[in-house]
Amino acid sequence: MKRASTIAAIALAALLGAILPVAALVYISWSRAQVAETDRLERTAERTLQRAHRAYEAGLLALRKLNQAQLPGCSPEHLKLMRSLTLSTTSAEQVGYFEEGRLRCTSWGMVEDLVPEPTPDHITADGASITLGVRPVAGDGAASLLSLQLGRHDILMDPSRFVDVIAEPNVRLAVATPDGRLIAQQPMADPELLQRLLREPHNGHTPRTLFASAQDQEWLAIAIAPRVGLVAAFQQQLWQLVPLGVVGAVLATVAGIWLSRRRLSLRNELASAVRRREFRMDYQPIIELDTGICVGAEALVRWSRADGTQVRPDLFIPVAEETGLIEALTDHVMDLVISDMRELLIHDRSAHIAINLSAGDVSSGRALKVLSGKLVGSGIHPQQIWLEATERGFLDIQGARTSLAAARRAGHCVAIDDFGVGYSSLQYLQQLPLDALKIDKSFIDSIGTHSVTSPVTSHIIDMAKTLGLFTVAEGIETSAQLAYLQSRQVEFGQGWLFSRPLPAPEFVAFHEQRRMQYGKAPEDMQNPNSITE
Ligand code: C2E
Ligand code: CA
Ligand code: CA
Repeated sequence: MKRASTIAAIALAALLGAILPVAALVYISWSRAQVAETDRLERTAERTLQRAHRAYEAGLLALRKLNQAQLPGCSPEHLKLMRSLTLSTTSAEQVGYFEEGRLRCTSWGMVEDLVPEPTPDHITADGASITLGVRPVAGDGAASLLSLQLGRHDILMDPSRFVDVIAEPNVRLAVATPDGRLIAQQPMADPELLQRLLREPHNGHTPRTLFASAQDQEWLAIAIAPRVGLVAAFQQQLWQLVPLGVVGAVLATVAGIWLSRRRLSLRNELASAVRRREFRMDYQPIIELDTGICVGAEALVRWSRADGTQVRPDLFIPVAEETGLIEALTDHVMDLVISDMRELLIHDRSAHIAINLSAGDVSSGRALKVLSGKLVGSGIHPQQIWLEATERGFLDIQGARTSLAAARRAGHCVAIDDFGVGYSSLQYLQQLPLDALKIDKSFIDSIGTHSVTSPVTSHIIDMAKTLGLFTVAEGIETSAQLAYLQSRQVEFGQGWLFSRPLPAPEFVAFHEQRRMQYGKAPEDMQNPNSITE
């Protein structure tokens, strides 16, 4: 009996000796992963806070300008200023002017109906009033917007802009006032948790989720993410580790931590993808709207991870821009475009390919030099490579102006991309040497959905014409949109109505087929990009 109990005790000790370190290691790695995840979420919440600040400050700045201008209410100059501030302010949908407690006019004209001044839901430290759930007078009235009012002016903003932050796909974000009044949120699986966090913001976890918050005087931001993946991965590891013992446990745990860290870091993954040149291009046909001819394509970069999942460029391009990887990526894109499209471009001299450049690429002027070098001896004419410069994040306007002017001298056609979406203003447009303006998909989307097409779209087209730029409309999906753009003499367009972005061989076939269908041999076609400096 004594022997039996000793054996049992030894067995138990051995078992505990084997299990405890494993359990301890698993526990340690688990809590470290959890802390890292929570930290990461907290950083996301902090970035959301900054985003909310930027949206709010931009609105406030516009309101101050309007109040300081002291123009006679609803006079033509007043309407003009309201309109230009609507266009140049991020996330602004409409600016309004109140007199005697009612809305007199907006950036889109006089208001006939009686629209009373809203009762604010919240007053900020700057003395501005915030009202939620406001419906604009113009448009179909379906959108629920946020009104920011200072003095007699208010600005209607899309609240989703306050949470418009790049985060891991399953992270959900919300922004509120410090007293817990919700301004904007992404769809949440657990609305009760959100309510709890609004009342009492803190970092932590529930059995299903991890959450973090960030707060300052003006805003409260909350980030919530499921932890299902974390739980499952670690349980599985535990069962494999027990029979393998401590050594196996140490190795597996270290590997586990290393792997989960790696998985969490899009940056590292992107860095190695750039090093290994794991990208390819799709080409979205660009169509001359009144003839239907395919005049070229926009080159769009594609990244498939090792596990086969695709990462969207609007997710990884900003990361590449932040981390300085963009230079190498842009170089790679140029190489791909040249090797994919060389033959087509030599065969059809009227065809062009548009390459997207980031603000940094443009400001430094480096990308242009690299491109010129790569084109030498390729047989491709500089006129056949168009450059799309996004206006997002142009800090060095002087640098951009110099390098865009050089690009045009070299023969490239230069278009401004996403105009009206970022932080840009009309001022930018006038200062930059440009050939074309790309109308962002968000403006094309509004065509035909409102009883009257968004006045902004029409205004952008007019503006391009005034400045002598030709226009390319992006994201055309319906024939109603096409008909409208044709009626407004927009020259070129791209979108799913014509074709989705295609792999190189499919684009070559598409281009060929269109050319036969519209009966134009390459020699007959005029290059639409004839540049006169
Ligand atoms: P973008 O330059 O505004 O490109 C247009 C985006 O709209 C593309 O998304 C395109 O696939 C999509 N699109 C085109 N037509 C339609 C349509 O009819 N309906 C819908 N729903 N979408 C349409 P994609 O390829 O995901 O690219 C997103 C953004 O990533 C681009 O926006 C551009 O800013 C950036 N990007 C893509 N490729 C590159 C690149 O090579 N270099 C740089 N710097 N940025 C790139
Ligand atoms: Ca583009
Ligand atoms: Ca765009």
